[in-house]
Amino acid sequence: MKNKSVIVIGAGVAGIEAASNIADQGYSVTLIEKKDVLGGNLTNYAKLFPNFADADEVKNNLINNLSTKKVEILKNNDITKLFFENDKWHAVNSQNQTYSADVALLTTGFTVFDAKRKEELGYGIYDNVITSLEFESMYKTGKITTKQGNIPKRIAFLNCVGSRDEKVGNHYCSRVCCINAVKQATEFKTLYPESEAYCFYMDIRMAGQFYEELYRKSQEENNVIYIRGRISEAAATIDNRIQIKTEDTLTGLPLKMTVDLLVLMVGMEASEATSNLSKQNEINGEYGFAKSLGLHGNDNKTTKKGLFLAGSCKRPLNIPEAIADARAAALQITQYLNNLQ
Ligand code: SF4
Repeated sequence: MKNKSVIVIGAGVAGIEAASNIADQGYSVTLIEKKDVLGGNLTNYAKLFPNFADADEVKNNLINNLSTKKVEILKNNDITKLFFENDKWHAVNSQNQTYSADVALLTTGFTVFDAKRKEELGYGIYDNVITSLEFESMYKTGKITTKQGNIPKRIAFLNCVGSRDEKVGNHYCSRVCCINAVKQATEFKTLYPESEAYCFYMDIRMAGQFYEELYRKSQEENNVIYIRGRISEAAATIDNRIQIKTEDTLTGLPLKMTVDLLVLMVGMEASEATSNLSKQNEINGEYGFAKSLGLHGNDNKTTKKGLFLAGSCKRPLNIPEAIADARAAALQITQYLNNLQ
């Protein structure tokens, strides 16, 4: 074991993968996680786009690989302070315990947008307005039902909830929710081919390998119907259905529809730890995300010596991107540590 150490804060996809790769190079690694489980946001998913890979399998592969490495794993450990002093980085948890190392890697990731902030969509008010995460948990059980236990005859997915939205102050695109809506609509129609599935979108952004193919397939084989328009209002009917209002912006016509279940495709926001710890170290970028030294070639470094970033603490990334970014961060960190020897 080399005589230098790294603390990795956050054991989601990026944290696990980076910790494994840094340990491979013989450095002492401590992986610190706020929750009592590893895997971060990946634990919330059943299947992953675009190929319906089993999310638990992907997560377990990462964790099993980690378990073969010499990495100290600390769970239930909420890091609230991070600072540099006497040539070391110090991470302090909510119980005031301090962990110190030569390098700190932030992998504190994202949280999902709180759909209650879009009051007009009725989340938290009407039973049958749910989020894409809740759809995912329900899908894990093998069926999708309304709160009353019925199979929806008609379902609607609404894109861009909490992203590209001036009113909530998030101008950015979360990048993953378009394809996630396509995936979930396809899953729904595969379970219930007789039911109807509608996706309401502003633009369909299919910028990933095999995304466009899945989008086409969802229309041609699963009969998912896409309507260009943003739902302006949702209200419950007397029989617990949801009436939605929008304008079909391709035809210019107003549209009212009643659905059994409305799924809000919630976007990605910086997690609390991401915004707090990056602010404390003056590496906070826009919207609470952490800011790297430079997008082109220095995306894992920061302006602070020995403080690195990986994954969705910088911006919304999908899982393959987070894994690749974690490996890049591990390489940058080992190069940095080699030069300290
Ligand atoms: S990925 Fe699609 S749904 Fe998500 S914010 Fe971007 S345009 Fe909206």
